[in-house]
Amino acid sequence: MELNVRDELVKEFLDCSSRGDLEKISSMMSHCSDLIDERGETGWTALMLAARHGHYEITKLLLSKGCDTTATNRSGQTARDVALFWGHRHIARLLADGRDGVVHHVLPERETDEADIYFNREFLNRMSEKRTDSEWLAAKRSSPHSVFILFYNLNPLVSPRADANEGEPDVKLCKLKVTSVEELLKQSNTVLIFLGAEKQERRLETDGDGPIAWFALNTEDDPSKLLKVKDPNSFFLKGPMPGLLMLSDNDAGVVAQARAVLAWHSRYGFCPTCGSETGVEEGGYKRTCLRAGCKSLQGIHNTCYPRVDPVVIMLVIHPDGNQCLLGRKKSFPSGMFSCLAGFIEAGESVEAAVRREVQEESGVLVGQVQYQTCQAWPMPSCLMIGCHCVALTTDISVDKNEIEEARWFTRQQVINALVKDKHAAFNIPPKQAVAHYLIKHWIGFNSNL
Ligand code: ZN
Ligand code: MG
Repeated sequence: MELNVRDELVKEFLDCSSRGDLEKISSMMSHCSDLIDERGETGWTALMLAARHGHYEITKLLLSKGCDTTATNRSGQTARDVALFWGHRHIARLLADGRDGVVHHVLPERETDEADIYFNREFLNRMSEKRTDSEWLAAKRSSPHSVFILFYNLNPLVSPRADANEGEPDVKLCKLKVTSVEELLKQSNTVLIFLGAEKQERRLETDGDGPIAWFALNTEDDPSKLLKVKDPNSFFLKGPMPGLLMLSDNDAGVVAQARAVLAWHSRYGFCPTCGSETGVEEGGYKRTCLRAGCKSLQGIHNTCYPRVDPVVIMLVIHPDGNQCLLGRKKSFPSGMFSCLAGFIEAGESVEAAVRREVQEESGVLVGQVQYQTCQAWPMPSCLMIGCHCVALTTDISVDKNEIEEARWFTRQQVINALVKDKHAAFNIPPKQAVAHYLIKHWIGFNSNL
């Protein structure tokens, strides 16, 4: 009986939040403050419902009473995600401001922190000032506390995550100790790079001599025999796709850095200027030509440092504002459509690259271009620069070499794809891809759903 009374109370509390009954919510909370984070049948809290229906004052009240802003519903959305999805930007901002206790009014508002995007998380402090401190690096390299992550042909060694719930990352990086990799480190074809150290606010993570250092190594010969003390269930991720998308956000951030730099070493072993042998310096962040007199030894040259390749990726919005242009490459899984994308060419602005790529691939002319967010994409070392842009023309003529098909999709079709409706006409890339963000963010433009 008592359970039923409680259930009724929760139901009423949630209903009030959906309806926007501030007075009732307030009075219920004063009698029964533990209602605040209760959930309904689909895992929605009062905060999510207020965010869904655009009730600003209720959101504010719940925040002031200390509700949990990180709770997620069964679709994995926080209240802030819900507010963004339904276009209630003022509520999303309120929820974002509450997140770190800082109100950001100096710059225009952004809906997403770029660190929330897969591969962008800076789990480590890179400590670039230590790259030239060879004594410190040598001490860390032999410290029993240091962490080594191993790549074989640029695929990381991982273990299955026994505790993973459905929809969560499946695997975690194997964090090896120096005793495990000692033999590998002696091999001439093993490349070792310094990644950084665990951030200092995690005060426990020190080895008595400063923060715990992380290194990454790559080998192109099967390392199984030389690797000591390993998890018997560990394996090398088949990569790069979709394996690299199965990690936690922290691990993905570490892999983004490690794989991009290791991939550079595996392809730029010789001096790009004169073809001579090079030596690895600065903790793996520089390769220096070993031939005296090489031009690359005078001044600073980008050939000596790990490269980053900028790519524009853009959602083209129809002039009517209610359709977007998506395309598919032959290599995509069947039914999948995504944003158009392409490398920025030398001497080209981001905006010019967006316009050129869209015209080349789809025949559509683009006017205004607006930067949204970016993503490190370590396959092998791209920086995806995500934009929204507005079409000036709507006739499509596809470049068959690059794209199999490109089409305008309505807002409703995109929503169906986003929520994985069974009648959806197509699928979009997974949430780890910045294309997913660009599409989802466009949907959030308009609350008229
Ligand atoms: Zn040279
Ligand atoms: Mg292209």
